[in-house]
Amino acid sequence: MWYMNEEREMLQSMARELAETEVRPFINTMEETSAFPHEIMKKIGEAGILGLFLPEEVGGCGPRWVDLGVCLEELGKESFVIANAVCSQYAGTSLLTMLGNEKVNKEVLEPICRGDFVMATSQCEPAGQTRLHDHKTRFTVDPETNEIVLNGGKIFTTNAGAAEYYLVCAKTPDPEQFGGEFGYILVHKDTPGLTVGHIEHKIGWNGSSTGQMFYNNVRVPMENLLLVMDMDEETTYYGGGNIGALMGVSMLGAAEGVYEKTLANARSRMHGDASIFDSYQAMRHSFAELKMEIELLRGLAYGVLEGLDNGDADVIEQAWAVKVKGARIFEHVASECIVLNGGNGVIRENGIERYLRDAKLCSIGCFALPHITEMIANHLE
Ligand SMILES: Cc1cc2nc3c(=O)[nH]c(=O)nc-3n(C[C@H](O)[C@H](O)[C@H](O)COP(=O)(O)OP(=O)(O)OC[C@H]3O[C@@H](n4cnc5c(N)ncnc54)[C@H](O)[C@@H]3O)c2cc1C
Repeated sequence: MWYMNEEREMLQSMARELAETEVRPFINTMEETSAFPHEIMKKIGEAGILGLFLPEEVGGCGPRWVDLGVCLEELGKESFVIANAVCSQYAGTSLLTMLGNEKVNKEVLEPICRGDFVMATSQCEPAGQTRLHDHKTRFTVDPETNEIVLNGGKIFTTNAGAAEYYLVCAKTPDPEQFGGEFGYILVHKDTPGLTVGHIEHKIGWNGSSTGQMFYNNVRVPMENLLLVMDMDEETTYYGGGNIGALMGVSMLGAAEGVYEKTLANARSRMHGDASIFDSYQAMRHSFAELKMEIELLRGLAYGVLEGLDNGDADVIEQAWAVKVKGARIFEHVASECIVLNGGNGVIRENGIERYLRDAKLCSIGCFALPHITEMIANHLE
């Protein structure tokens, strides 16, 4: 491939081995118990994959977008959930790395880089992810202790109950005084007043806990108020591109994963003396169609990742397109692969239908597709 070189081939083999030896044996447990795979994240940290998006100051060597993409693709082949667990760490830490705060670097980012623990970004509320001005979570300041006092509730927080730290979005009491309408507050999991609510049972993404969080008179020092900003469509539009590209390249891997498994099954499933792949031209046409979709997504995903490596500011629409098209292509490939497996495709133990369940969530998590379309439409000239 045009973006590969010797170093990336080594990274690819390392990530593939990790996926096959550490991720594959754990998939049934994740499906059955939905347990968050802390041990796998530790291995991913030790392998240096989390360091590909984190800077040197905290033990990383990033950001190196294509290198990270190569690893996410391999992890995604076995499990979109595991690749996406890496993406969700990028989402939270990307805000924290902007700060250059030594305490945060030492206590939060360095351990995350090693894979010692994970964090969560707690933003979505019942009013709707994008209806930020209708969100109820807010903070006040205790005038005697100068502590932040946080109150509110969130839904759909990824890593609810699994995270060591929660980065909570809350309205500031006075936008003029604080320099913005929304603040991100870092809360350790053991802080009194923080409780984990109901953990949702989802269609897919088993192994990624998604749940309610409550913050009831949670007190943290003022220094935990890390970032204040006026958030609007523009902030989302320009800030979200990178995560879109990372999720998209994970979807590429997952689409390839289910495709490769299905191709192997078609080559070994015999109808009489020949495999169904060799017997039926319509089967081979279906594989060819899917392969073309996968390769289109590859071109889009790695083109954007290379653009990010080159500091190209013009790749925002393309980065969002990787998320949108990635979700559609992954879902289509996963759905067609069920059919190509025949009855075996819908049997849970065979590990094919899981990909379709995971794919469906890709159209929603980290902004549902119509919202992304709306943002792009608003930027059309
Ligand atoms: C598995 C999972 C994990 C998640 N993890 C996290 C997390 O870690 N942290 C977090 O904060 N959130 C998280 N979310 C929330 C996720 O970002 C939202 O569910 C998603 O953005 C959609 O928002 P909503 O559910 O509020 O839907 P709604 O806002 O109710 O949207 C319903 C429909 O309206 C459309 N719509 C909404 N607003 C607009 C708009 N402005 N323009 C055009 N169309 C619009 C949507 O696209 C959608 O089709 C997660 C969700 C899921 C399902």
